[in-house]
Amino acid sequence: MPQTSTSLPSREQIQAEYKWQVENIYANEQLWQADFDKVKNALPGITEYKGTLSQTPAKLAACLKLRDEINILAGKLFAYARLHRDENSANAKYQALVGKTEGLLAETSAATAFIEPEILAISDDMLAAFRREQSLAEYSFYFDNLIRQKQHVLSPAEEEILSRSAEATQASENIFNMLAHADMKFPDITGEDGQKITLSEGRYRSLIMSADRRVRQEAFSGLFGSYNTFRNTFAATLAGNVKKNIFYSRTRKYNSTLESALSESNIPVNVYDNLLATVNNNLAPLHRYIALKKKALQLDEIHMYDLYTPLAQAVKFNIPYAEGLKLVREGLAPLGTEYADILNKGLTSGWIDVYENKGKQTGAYCWGVYGVHPFVLLNYNDRLEDVSTLAHEMGHAIHSYYSQAAQPYATSQYTIFTAEVASTTNEILLNDFLLKATTDKQKKLYLINQYLEMVRATVYRQTMFAEFEKSIYDKAEEGETLTADLLDALWHTLNTKYYGPGMVVDSEIDVEWARIPHFYWNFYVYQYVTGYAAATTLAEKMANGGTGDKQRYIEFLKSGGSDYPLSILKQAGVDMSTPQPVELTLNKFSTMLDELEKLISKS
Ligand SMILES: [Zn+2]
Repeated sequence: MPQTSTSLPSREQIQAEYKWQVENIYANEQLWQADFDKVKNALPGITEYKGTLSQTPAKLAACLKLRDEINILAGKLFAYARLHRDENSANAKYQALVGKTEGLLAETSAATAFIEPEILAISDDMLAAFRREQSLAEYSFYFDNLIRQKQHVLSPAEEEILSRSAEATQASENIFNMLAHADMKFPDITGEDGQKITLSEGRYRSLIMSADRRVRQEAFSGLFGSYNTFRNTFAATLAGNVKKNIFYSRTRKYNSTLESALSESNIPVNVYDNLLATVNNNLAPLHRYIALKKKALQLDEIHMYDLYTPLAQAVKFNIPYAEGLKLVREGLAPLGTEYADILNKGLTSGWIDVYENKGKQTGAYCWGVYGVHPFVLLNYNDRLEDVSTLAHEMGHAIHSYYSQAAQPYATSQYTIFTAEVASTTNEILLNDFLLKATTDKQKKLYLINQYLEMVRATVYRQTMFAEFEKSIYDKAEEGETLTADLLDALWHTLNTKYYGPGMVVDSEIDVEWARIPHFYWNFYVYQYVTGYAAATTLAEKMANGGTGDKQRYIEFLKSGGSDYPLSILKQAGVDMSTPQPVELTLNKFSTMLDELEKLISKS
């Protein structure tokens, strides 16, 4: 059922077997309303525990259990409203239901806000004694994680000041967003067919991939020229954001902003440092990729604006959904029969909303609903990327499915650090399978190009971002001022180092730091690299390992948030405190370069 954007069907026109079954959460609105009332009525009950949590372990356990029950119901209520709204955003009924649930969620979090400060106020000895009670056993990791951060929690009066400061210290990021996404104007350039195109961030992404070199050069100069006009303002917003994070990390008595950011997932600082060192020791494959790209594109010099040009023109794969399902089933076969059974269950029992319809949310996501099942939104349109997205989202879905079945609510949610591992493992398995199965040269070239670009953009580029972040925080923490000149120079040096002597690092790129929203997310991007490297390692084990590896992988999927992410991954067989996962990933990148070299020398 392929569709074009000009003739989208209405939701009613889509066959039921291609729609998710939100009725698996609530069969009708009366049942939804009944749970809504139930949560509403439970809130006064939970506030009655205020001031009593240190009295007996039974009181503490009862309060935490009640909070879980409320959160499970609130999760179902919200999912029901949001999934229905995403089916068709024009449906006012579900917009209203979303609004109503959001109000309830805010009330819920306000009503339960006393719990954690009160637990932290219980003396260590008393809490240790409480924790020997069986009723609190399922909260063991929750307590460990809470207590671990105790030394960084300040007095109630100081905490109050910090929380009131948040709105004001948010200004740098807000100004960045307003300037970059609302006020910035980009110039007109001349497109492939000679037509005038007004540049935008969205259009830049396709124009920079143009096979016409003049077009991508104009897009490149146009985009970065605009950022360059505001370089001092962008330097000020970025510097302001860095100062904000330094302020909070110092006030909370961390040794550095990096330590403070990583402590959330309990990741030691040396994991970050080792990642930068390992990628720096393995830049040679990226330099080789640049040289091969220059050769394949038959360029005299390779410039920054040539980087995104695909080695193979887009190949139309045209994969109907039924064929896509078959490919995903075959691609994920290395995960074993139990996994295959759950995959099959997911594919056939109302987890997935397959096709686009009028008003439907764009893109793709997975939404796990505790006590029900995961839901997956797709906009499947017969492209190879859509098959990849299906494998990716089913990775999230089955991770949620296993974790929610195996864990009590308190430890069922996996952390950001491990969130993309299962999904990316699936994508890599599918890609490897397709590469093996494809004999057509153009298609093979296309798949290799996709893979190489994925590693370049996820591993190399994000590590370069992570290195930039580390440098600017180091400098700012030593009292240096982050000026536009300093940031430009740093960005230029990093690009020269990462892309190597074969690349002409055009000066326009120097201001690229100004357009990266992730630099306002405080040491977030390195997790793209660790997640991808962990997934590559696991996919390798699934394809070539024994039954022990496969069992450990299923255990990983079942572990949810029951331990710290590094421990969970280590149990699965990936030690992120060593260079191996990243080395293995970049070795695989090298092997793909060999394949690419063979293919392009044949032509
Ligand atoms: Zn994902």
